[in-house]
Amino acid sequence: MHYPLNMDGDYVLDNPMSSHVNINEEPNKDAKKFYNLLKGVEQKLYLGCQNFYRLSFIIHLLQIKCLYGWSNISFDSLLKLLACINDCILYRGGYENLDECPICKKSR
Ligand SMILES: [Zn+2]
Repeated sequence: MHYPLNMDGDYVLDNPMSSHVNINEEPNKDAKKFYNLLKGVEQKLYLGCQNFYRLSFIIHLLQIKCLYGWSNISFDSLLKLLACINDCILYRGGYENLDECPICKKSR
């Protein structure tokens, strides 16, 4: 059986809902979060970081959380120590001694 390919070379399967799908529609909020997460595959964790990409670091942290049964509250507390509360920066790679975020000015 022959299936058509899209521009990326992936198979395009028949979808009974396809006539209702607008391909120009903006992704919803959750889809945007997912796409941003995928961008982390190729983003270094911070400038000069040699060991982790953004996504691999998140997965590594979640693995540790699960292995040792950390509560969500304790995990959130750890993240607040490591990163700006607004997700602007990590306090690493030249930012480690700052008392406030250089982007949004929130205190650490
Ligand atoms: Zn910030």
